[in-house]
Amino acid sequence: MTTTLHDCRALDAQDPLRSLRDLFHLPEGTIYLDGNSLGVMPRATPARVADVVTREWGTDLIQSWNKNGWFAMPQKVGDKIARLIGAAPGTVVATDSTSINLFKVLSAALNLSTADHPQRKRIVSERSNFPTDLYIAEALCKERGFDLVLVEPEEIAAALTSEVAVLMLTHVNYRTGAMHDMPTVTAAAHAAGALMLWDLAHSAGAVPVDLTGAGADYAVGCGYKYLNGGPGAPAFVWVNPRHTDRFWQPLAGWWGHATPFAFTPDYQPAPGITRYQCGTQPMISLAALECGVDTLLATESVGGMAALRTKSLALTDLFISLVDERCQGHGIGLATPLSHAQRGSQVCLTKDEGAYAIVQALIARGVVGDYRAGDPSTGSGRTGAKDILRFGFTPLYIGFEDVWHSVEHLKQVLDSGEWQRAEFNQKHAVT
Ligand SMILES: *Cc1c(COP(=O)(O)O)cnc(C)c1O
Repeated sequence: MTTTLHDCRALDAQDPLRSLRDLFHLPEGTIYLDGNSLGVMPRATPARVADVVTREWGTDLIQSWNKNGWFAMPQKVGDKIARLIGAAPGTVVATDSTSINLFKVLSAALNLSTADHPQRKRIVSERSNFPTDLYIAEALCKERGFDLVLVEPEEIAAALTSEVAVLMLTHVNYRTGAMHDMPTVTAAAHAAGALMLWDLAHSAGAVPVDLTGAGADYAVGCGYKYLNGGPGAPAFVWVNPRHTDRFWQPLAGWWGHATPFAFTPDYQPAPGITRYQCGTQPMISLAALECGVDTLLATESVGGMAALRTKSLALTDLFISLVDERCQGHGIGLATPLSHAQRGSQVCLTKDEGAYAIVQALIARGVVGDYRAGDPSTGSGRTGAKDILRFGFTPLYIGFEDVWHSVEHLKQVLDSGEWQRAEFNQKHAVT
């Protein structure tokens, strides 16, 4: 049965999460389908940031480290994020960037693996993983004499040989929205004697995650995507408590020291996840991140991540079926799996020609998605081969009527051929 605009409005009216939209500043005339890249600003953020600047910094100055809880902010925000990813209190810190946290946990994982299994000298990851993850792994491999093996998703099981120290994967693929089965893949890595490291950049705040239940070893994730922490927000890092105290991470700065204010010349790592901090943390950004994470914790009274997931799948199902019904004849393909168990909170469409320009034409109409270039070297049928139009569906602030209108705009852009105009074919620095 086809869904109408009227049906979409009825779905919004019945949506138990509908009121959460009011927690956000949504610019007039914009349907924002890019919360997977930069989350929308929560309404609470400007006042909170202003308070940190004018009162905490402006008036309380250095006393704020104690008086306003600055020193404990990475742990405080980390504990809030922990509730979204199945992590115990005291096992997550909000700190640094995803890339830097990845360097820390990957280094620690290599140390741990080398101590227990010195013959294991390999990191396995996915060819279509987010490049920064691969760059960090490549750099570490060079430095430590490991090799990095990149495979397609269906080749992971076969790649888990007795040489593998760490399997490093991103839970939800940034290009395709394809999601790994975390418990199954983690169990396969462990059965092969490897450690399991998850990047939750497109998972935290987007899909339910249970790191503890899956028995994973390490995880990192991003603060500015589904956690709505603002541009360049601190990222987070989790280490399974069974490993935390066995090794340090190499960026052994004073914020990871057991007694930083003893100012001793030698390094003694703090117990627990605090040792994953390096230097002084950005308080203004951490306050903004806390506001973002609080928008997700606000769902706890209306069903939590399970309710968000139900709505997210309903939104992406609707988008997929409306595109299928209404955008025929333009060579649009679907890169995102139809299976719910394998889908994150985004839908990625493929088109052989014009994907970038179509996204630009949609942005001009107020429908903000983004474009990701394909990599022909990965071969046809592979996850990285085709150019992608990427649409993120953040159930906190996207509704069913938004889905209707975005498909209507896509249909008009395709039917009219307006994407072929020169202005939409000029590449910007950030895509
Ligand atoms: C967004 C993203 C990052 C970003 O890393 P930064 O250090 O914040 O630039 C890393 N990994 C993945 C998988 C991502 O999606």
